[in-house]
Parts: sequence; C-alpha cells; structure tokens
Amino acid sequence: MNGRRHRVVVVGGGFGGVRATRALSGADADVTIVDRTNHHLFQPLLYQVATAILPAGLIAPPLRRVVRKQANAHTVLADVRELDLDGRVVHALAPDGRDLALPYDSLVVAAGCTDTYFGHDEWAAFAPGLKTLEDARHLRSHILSAFEMAELATDPAERAAYLTFAVVGAGPTGVEMVGQVAELAHEVLTTEATILLIEAGPAVLAAFAPRLQRYTRRRLERMGVDMLLNTTALDIDHDSITVKDGDGKRRIPARTKIWAAGVRASPLATMLAEATGAGTDRAGRVTVRPDCSLPGHPEVFAIGDMVSLNNLPAVAQPAIQEGVYVGRLIRARMAGQTPEKPFSYRDKGSMATIGHLSAVVDSFGMKFTGVIGYTMWAFVHVLYIVGWGNRIGTILNWTRAMTFTKNRPHRTITFERAQYEVAEDAGTTEAAPG
Ligand SMILES: Cc1cc2nc3c(=O)[nH]c(=O)nc-3n(C[C@H](O)[C@H](O)[C@H](O)COP(=O)(O)OP(=O)(O)OC[C@H]3O[C@@H](n4cnc5c(N)ncnc54)[C@H](O)[C@@H]3O)c2cc1C
Repeated sequence: MNGRRHRVVVVGGGFGGVRATRALSGADADVTIVDRTNHHLFQPLLYQVATAILPAGLIAPPLRRVVRKQANAHTVLADVRELDLDGRVVHALAPDGRDLALPYDSLVVAAGCTDTYFGHDEWAAFAPGLKTLEDARHLRSHILSAFEMAELATDPAERAAYLTFAVVGAGPTGVEMVGQVAELAHEVLTTEATILLIEAGPAVLAAFAPRLQRYTRRRLERMGVDMLLNTTALDIDHDSITVKDGDGKRRIPARTKIWAAGVRASPLATMLAEATGAGTDRAGRVTVRPDCSLPGHPEVFAIGDMVSLNNLPAVAQPAIQEGVYVGRLIRARMAGQTPEKPFSYRDKGSMATIGHLSAVVDSFGMKFTGVIGYTMWAFVHVLYIVGWGNRIGTILNWTRAMTFTKNRPHRTITFERAQYEVAEDAGTTEAAPG
C-alpha cells in the first residue's frame, strides 16, 4: 500500500450492499456505494406500494441517510456500466451523462436481478414486473386507472376486460400481489372484478410445504382468486393474455397483467463471469468461490441475488448474510488475518402473506398459518425495515388499512397519469407523468 486508505467500492445499495458496507463501519477504509437509485429498497413490501397500502418513502429510505452515521461511507447515484478488474476501476454513468471512474482495492458487486420473460421481452410492455419503486408506482397507477376506466365503460366486454387482473407466477411475489389486488378490488372498490393467478406448475408457493400450499390455495379461493394452475402464458398483448392448459389454448381479455414468473441476474453477473472465467447458471447468476470471491480475483466479491453459491435461493437472507460475511472478510484481510472460513448460511425459513391477517411461515421446521403466521410475518418485516420512523409509519399504515377502515389510503392518481396508463405502452414508463 502507498500510505492511502483502503478503497472499497460496493455496487448496489440493496440488502447485500448495505450489509457489506455496515460490516466495514469503523474500518480503516473508504467505502463508496454506487447505485442507480438513491434509496435502499425493501423489495419484500413493494407489492404494498403497488396496491396502495404503503407510501413509497416508508420502504425506500435514501441510501445517504441509511449510512449517515458511518463516517467512512458515502454514496454515489450512477449506473455501473463496466467493471475493469485488471485496472481495478468501476466505470459508471452519472445522471448528467458524465463518466465516473471509481478506483478500488476491494470490490463488492451486489446488483441483484431483473425480471425475465423467457425470450419474450416484448411482454414487458404489457405485463410489468415488480422489482423497483418505479414498477410499484406504475402498477398502482395502472390498477387504479383500470378501475376508473371500468366506471366509464358502456360495453360490458370492455368493462370486464378493465376489471380483469391477471398475475402470472404463483411464487411468493405472485401470491402476495394477487392477494392484495383481490382485497383492493373486492373489499375496497368493486365486487365485480376477476382476479386470476396463472401458474405453469401444479401448485402455488412451490417451494413451501404441501400443507402451506393447500392453505394458501384455500385462502386465495375464498378471497375470490381464480387459480389457473398447470397453465402457461403463450402470448401477452395490450388487451389480453393467451394461455394454454390441458383443455387447449384460450385468450383472456385483461387490461392488467402483472409479471411475477421469473427473474434473471443483473447483467453485471455475466460481465464478471466473462472477465474471470467463472460459470453462470440458468438464471445468469455468476458462480462464486466459497468465500464469495471471483476466480483469480480474491479482491472482487459478488453477493446476493446475482450469484450462484451452494444452491441458495435468491431471497433476502443469503444476500444479507453474504454481505456481512464479505464486509468482515475485507476487514480481516486488512488486519492481515488468515485463513478465512468459507461462507456458511444459516437458514431462518421462509414466509409469505396471503391477505388480511393471513400468512404462511415455515421456520426452523415449524409451520404457521393464519393470524399467528401473519403476526410473525409482520414482526420480521418491520424489524428489517430501515429506520424507526419508517417502522412506526408502516405499523400505523397497516393498522389504518386493515383494522379501522379496510381502506387503501394511498390511492392517488391524476388525469395525466390515467391517460398515460390507458394509452400505455407500459414499457415506456420513463415518459410517464410523475
Ligand atoms: C416483489 C419482491 C418481493 C420479495 N419478497 C421477499 C420476501 O418476502 N422474502 C425474502 O427473503 N426475499 C424477498 N424478495 C427477494 C429479496 O428482495 C432479494 O433477494 C434481495 O433484495 C436481494 O438483495 P441484493 O442485495 O442481492 O439485491 P437488491 O436488493 O435487488 O439490490 C440491488 C441493488 O443494485 C442496484 N443496481 C443494480 N444494477 C446496478 C447498476 N448497473 N448500477 C448501479 N446500481 C445497480 C439496484 O438499484 C439495487 O439497489 C422479494 C423480491 C421482490 C422483487
């Protein structure tokens, strides 16, 4: 070293990146988090923004604020475009178009994943996914616009299409989303809506225990969700979704389609794989070494949703635990400590909400449903939201939405926004009014 402090660049301020940064608090290093957003997004509650339960700010505190007490950390709003591993520089594009070069001694890449449409990228315009705050805001506006347009429709078929909501994919995101759309539709706005959950496999929540799957299915059916299992999406356009099941092919008119069927690692995973000779899996996740580093580059780490390591799922806990591990490992190396233990994962279980006071939880071999499951789900989620103000705000919003009025307090929409959503190509959200 040439007398200067160790420089750590962390790409991505999500679960993994923030935990890695925090684990370096007080270390003799300068940490730069570079993210294409200015906030730390709590993705597990995105669907509540999309269905007008929570305001966006509660689940997306500014990254700057998240690390404000950490004197050795600062944040940069930029889109990372290139990782020069030989030159040890991250190249990023700033919002004003300037190129930023961020040199590092240690690099942590935690860029998460994006939606994948299995070779049908054109569907993205008609069936948006739920990965970013923009996605959630767009979906909320789209759903609310559909209800407004249904009020105006004089043709029954047109009205039915506006009131048909199809969620594709019955994993945790799809189940949570469809449950809340059903509640929003049936309990708050109109009982006429048709809510569809379309799943290519034979079960909802395929990764959960059969008992929890059966419970989820029963609950959703009671909430008025039509479950189309063993049903594949064949085509999606502005007005409809075409599906195929055992009885053949059919076109379902539906103005709102929501994609929760598949994710793919950030393109930065491929970039790392190509630069280091590491492999990638089917979801484009780069295979990392047991200490989360890349082959031939012990100073470069990748963590979270974008990596393949020990068959861990792309959920929050692996990202969080890998982030802490890598932060500590960088610290230990700076202190000259070796050898390093490989990363080991502690499985804390999985959970998903279904609807009003109802959730499924599978944790440490125990299974919970109903109100107990919901209470556990709520407790864990509030715990992981960053900031006491946001935690209290979330509890107050939940109490208001569920207990007192069963209402959705954040149903704001404007003429301009509705006009855009109706005419939409959803894929052009950049041009959308705010
Ligand atoms: C709707 C939804 C619901 C979920 N529910 C649950 C749940 O209930 N339980 C659970 O355990 N997990 C859940 N997950 C998964 C969980 O959120 C992820 O596993 C977790 O966020 C992964 O953390 P990460 O740090 O790898 O990536 P992320 O948290 O996605 O963070 C990646 C960050 O990198 C930034 N970034 C990406 N590319 C670039 C670039 N080129 N330049 C700069 N910045 C970049 C992004 O802006 C983002 O801030 C859910 C995910 C979604 C989308």
